[in-house]
Amino acid sequence: MHDVLVVGGGIAGLRAALAASSRGAEVAIASRSHPTRSYSVAIQDGLNAALLPGDAWEAHAADTSAWGDGLCVPEVVEAVCRSAPELVRELDQLGVPFNRSGGRNGTALACLKLRGARTARAAYVDDMAGLVLTQTLYEQAVRAGITFYEEWTATSLAVGDGACTGVVALEQATGELQLLGAKAVVLATGGPRRLYEPSTASLHCTGDGIAMAYRAGAPLVDMEFVQYHPAVLKGQRMAITEIAWAHGAALATAGGTGVGEDDPGPGAFLRAIGQAAVANGGHVELSGTWDADQAKGLFYNTSYRVKQLTGLDMAKEPLPVRPAMHRLLGGVAVDAGGATSIEGLYAAGECAGTGFHGAAGLDGNFLLSAVSSGRAAGLAAADHASSTKEPDAAGGALDRDRTRVAEALRRPGGEPLAAMRRELGGLMHAHVGMVREAVGLQEAAQRIAEMKETHGSLGAGSEGRDYNFGLAHYLDLGSLLDVAEAVVASAHAREESRGVHFRSDHAARDDARWSVHQLVSASEAGPVLRESPPGA
Ligand SMILES: Cc1cc2nc3c(=O)[nH]c(=O)nc-3n(C[C@H](O)[C@H](O)[C@H](O)COP(=O)(O)OP(=O)(O)OC[C@H]3O[C@@H](n4cnc5c(N)ncnc54)[C@H](O)[C@@H]3O)c2cc1C
Repeated sequence: MHDVLVVGGGIAGLRAALAASSRGAEVAIASRSHPTRSYSVAIQDGLNAALLPGDAWEAHAADTSAWGDGLCVPEVVEAVCRSAPELVRELDQLGVPFNRSGGRNGTALACLKLRGARTARAAYVDDMAGLVLTQTLYEQAVRAGITFYEEWTATSLAVGDGACTGVVALEQATGELQLLGAKAVVLATGGPRRLYEPSTASLHCTGDGIAMAYRAGAPLVDMEFVQYHPAVLKGQRMAITEIAWAHGAALATAGGTGVGEDDPGPGAFLRAIGQAAVANGGHVELSGTWDADQAKGLFYNTSYRVKQLTGLDMAKEPLPVRPAMHRLLGGVAVDAGGATSIEGLYAAGECAGTGFHGAAGLDGNFLLSAVSSGRAAGLAAADHASSTKEPDAAGGALDRDRTRVAEALRRPGGEPLAAMRRELGGLMHAHVGMVREAVGLQEAAQRIAEMKETHGSLGAGSEGRDYNFGLAHYLDLGSLLDVAEAVVASAHAREESRGVHFRSDHAARDDARWSVHQLVSASEAGPVLRESPPGA
């Protein structure tokens, strides 16, 4: 029995674990990948904080709220933006080698001006902030004596008498399911990017934590807000860093017509690029005025990978790009301390719906949110654990998952599962992507319900226990379908357009009716929605 069990070893999970450990809690991290292979390593740009002279947390909060299009939770925005400079300085002291003005030996942190910010505000580490932050936090977690369950996939929450007492997890190397008991659990399992195609997803972006909480009865919030990245390499999953944009990158059609830059809001900007891409053979062209030295220095990682993937030299040639799904802005509904509706269960990072982003998220605020919500949830979980006596382990979830997995091992899988995931990705992009309308959303809801039925008749495709990837794909698709159901129901109900949620059949923002957050819960009959005002 652990004091605090963190599920997920990305930046949010590592930050949560360190925070809990700093309060004297005994902490473990269970992660389906090694922490330094978490998706957080892909972050290129940086994290926002009012660090430079002339900037102030109030300006950061105002930019965040303006972008969030009337749906940010004001108290959360204030708390996060106020604490952001301290959070960055903490990371600096932990050993993150942020870029400095005056070069590596300079004393002041350097900042970039990203889209939507009125001033330079993103602390960065060339174009590899995520890689460096993850590595640094991992080293600190090892140093703090945190226990790691590496390559363990959580499959369910153990909930008894309304309280979370741990998770059921599959040890991938043996195929055994075990109950990892804890006085407090922090979900930090990242986002569900694999729900969409095209997207910037990697293998483990399946929304497991969101699905587990949903199945356990915790409401999800703001699930209709799905944000695309403006410039992902055509035919690939690689997003071109906002650092390129901060240095003058621009989008144009092959004919040289500029695209999207006149539109101030994120939704209109992304839709303009999407429409231009469709009209121009599936892509637009990204090019910049940076020189070869900049490309070799600041964009070293990006330009190297672009060259590997496409053969193109980004210092000299335009890159074919198009928008692709990048982030879900909602997640498991939490309060300012990361607490969910289930006692002892907390959520942080991309799987948590904190209300910080509102209806559209600012670049540089996602990494900030992972650090800030991770720290808050870790501290709250440790406090909860210190005031809770060791709970009786709720074994029902373990028995259920052992039966579920044993049955799945005997059922066919393989290509039908892969085909269903491909169809799901296309369906979500077509009907629940940058442009939505009622008929398409109803079609998506119906097809997802049918897929859930079919999914129940499929399985792993082989009875092997160790590293059974067929079983992993089966479980992943189950998570994705649960999350898809919640996204579609929320998008269908919100009959207005706001932030990144655009309904072609309700094209205007409707403050009188829709200045509310939507909470969605699972039920036998399907998703159930209710509304709550911002900040409630
Ligand atoms: C290409 C790219 C660039 C980005 N750049 C920026 C940027 O510059 N600035 C910014 O603010 N944001 C950026 N973001 C967003 C940012 O990456 C995320 O918000 C942040 O990394 C989320 O961290 P996380 O810890 O919540 O999730 P992740 O890093 O995805 O970590 C999730 C962890 O959970 C584990 N896990 C998942 N399911 C399970 C399970 N069932 N059981 C056990 N473990 C599980 C995974 O193995 C992993 O360890 C970028 C995103 C992408 C894709």
